[in-house]
Amino acid sequence: AAAPLGSSVIPIVNKLQDIFAQLGSQSTIELPQVAVVGSQSSGKSSVLEALVGRDFLPRGNEICTRRPLLLQLAQTKSRSDGGSDDEWGEFLHLPNKRFYDFSEIRREIEAETNRLLGDNKGVSDETIRLKIFSPNVLDITLVDLPGITKVPVGDQPTDIEARIRTMILSYIKKPSCLILAVTPANSDLANSDALQIAGNADPDGHRTIGVITKLDIMDRGTDARNHLLGKTIPLRLGYVGVVNRSQEDILLNRSIKDALIAEEKFFLSRPAYSGLTDRLGVPQLAKKLNQILVQHIKTLLPNLKSCISNALYAAAKEYESLGDITETRAGQGALLLNFLTKYCEAYSSTLEGKSKEMSTS
Ligand code: GDP
Ligand code: MG
Repeated sequence: AAAPLGSSVIPIVNKLQDIFAQLGSQSTIELPQVAVVGSQSSGKSSVLEALVGRDFLPRGNEICTRRPLLLQLAQTKSRSDGGSDDEWGEFLHLPNKRFYDFSEIRREIEAETNRLLGDNKGVSDETIRLKIFSPNVLDITLVDLPGITKVPVGDQPTDIEARIRTMILSYIKKPSCLILAVTPANSDLANSDALQIAGNADPDGHRTIGVITKLDIMDRGTDARNHLLGKTIPLRLGYVGVVNRSQEDILLNRSIKDALIAEEKFFLSRPAYSGLTDRLGVPQLAKKLNQILVQHIKTLLPNLKSCISNALYAAAKEYESLGDITETRAGQGALLLNFLTKYCEAYSSTLEGKSKEMSTS
């Protein structure tokens, strides 16, 4: 399945990368990171998975993401481009091992989490690095982070909340990091850990998108219309509401594709969400991210322009010097011709001299 995230940007980025490569330029298009923040079980991992369009992250109704996961998507050449359509994952801690089975990737994330932390709910800021290779993705980095929790459980230290907040901030304070602030619709938006921590890192809201999950399990008689319209807590880049797979869907192995169809049906069936189509659904979230990426690329274009004019100038210079070389070559050729002529003359006169000698003797 094609990844919804970046699908409309992929051709642009590829073209620009090609241009950069032809210019022999070191600079390439560097896309911003995208990180998900929010309280535990708000649906962060589910949102990331839906954006990538593949099942591979541990999800569940208790703490699953206990170490940050740095997920680097890397574009490979497709079969029509002389490569192959294979998609696989590689972990930094397991070099040279390719995971073609994405559920095996999930098991390895869990195993690697447990290797460091045991299985008693401990949390660490030691990052797991996973690279996904596919012809259907953009070269972009996504960060799945542990959720904010308040009450220590299992092996967690008493200051678990402060530790997790520090860990999250270390990622999202970078100006190049886009923040998906995830809040479940069945909790109060004014109490949102996600909006609070995103507001700390990005007070102007230039790089925070609000994501409201679990619209399907709100209290009967309530809906998230006002939240999505920004009437509850305004957000510069606005909100997108989504319906991800429930725990039951996961247990029943429901695919992401089916979940997207169910999501669309859900929104169509609720009058409360009519007229809000630009703020509803994972595909809209991907579209919003794409728009931000395009904006980002636009700000990089002046740099590309100066790269091109530099390259043009260098080419003109080289052309000039090539002109000199051609002349010199012609000069050398003439010189060589001179040499040869003189040699031939000398040779023939020697021959002549010899024949004269012979005739006189
Ligand atoms: P995280 O801890 O924030 O990464 O949350 P997860 O993605 O692991 O999701 C936590 C639980 O909520 C899982 O059981 C998901 O199946 C469930 N979940 C996530 N999003 C939704 C949603 O939109 N609707 C429903 N019904 N369940 C969801
Ligand atoms: Mg998670």
